[in-house]
Amino acid sequence: MRKQVMVIGVGRFGSSVALNLVELGHDVLVVDKNQDLIQQISTEVTNAVVANAASESGIQALGVNNFDAIVLAIGNDEQASILAAILLIEAGASYIVAKAQNDLHGKVLNKIGVHRVIYPERDMGHKIAHSLFASNIIDLIELSSDYSVVEVSAPQEMVGQTLKNLDLRARFGVSVIALRRNHGSKTNISPAADDRVMTGDIIVAIGENKALKKLEWI
Ligand code: ATP
Repeated sequence: MRKQVMVIGVGRFGSSVALNLVELGHDVLVVDKNQDLIQQISTEVTNAVVANAASESGIQALGVNNFDAIVLAIGNDEQASILAAILLIEAGASYIVAKAQNDLHGKVLNKIGVHRVIYPERDMGHKIAHSLFASNIIDLIELSSDYSVVEVSAPQEMVGQTLKNLDLRARFGVSVIALRRNHGSKTNISPAADDRVMTGDIIVAIGENKALKKLEWI
């Protein structure tokens, strides 16, 4: 469904989020204090305005409560990011995702009441480090410091075996939550015990990081 999204700060991260949202068919208003950046991106998004998101008058003019989500993508200027977050919440923003530069910045954003805090550089660094020498890892989502969801190419030694035979839950405490086939075009989201892993399958599994490490899945 078409959503109304505001992206504040069109640096590399914010502009990537904005352009991807447009591609997905959403209405995107981008906001930045830098007029040149706004001019550059204006033809590619629904609307682009120059405003200071760290000022009350700037936020008031944006009609914050008309948006389904607001992505706060100011990174370097932590003070501006925090001020903007406070003003957005006061103005009645229903859902704010904010980019944090470091842990402390993230903690403050959380305390203010931002709905989701993301750390793109830290998370991407984590993913790259974990997948650098483990060529079968496709994606990794850290649920907490102890648990993750991973997407891995089915290892050769598992091909041809049923999930029952593999018995990953009893052996490692790792649960297979989906099997993806044909380059991900077919996804079995409730794999049964007698489902067989086939060549080229992608296994989506959840488990404790320690167990996933034993499998060399993180
Ligand atoms: P990236 O890594 O995505 O390039 P960054 O982490 O370096 O970005 P910043 O450069 O701090 O982040 O900010 C991104 C954008 O936010 C910039 O284009 C900047 O002009 C804009 N910005 C910063 N402060 C404000 C503000 N108060 N109001 C509106 N836009 C702002």
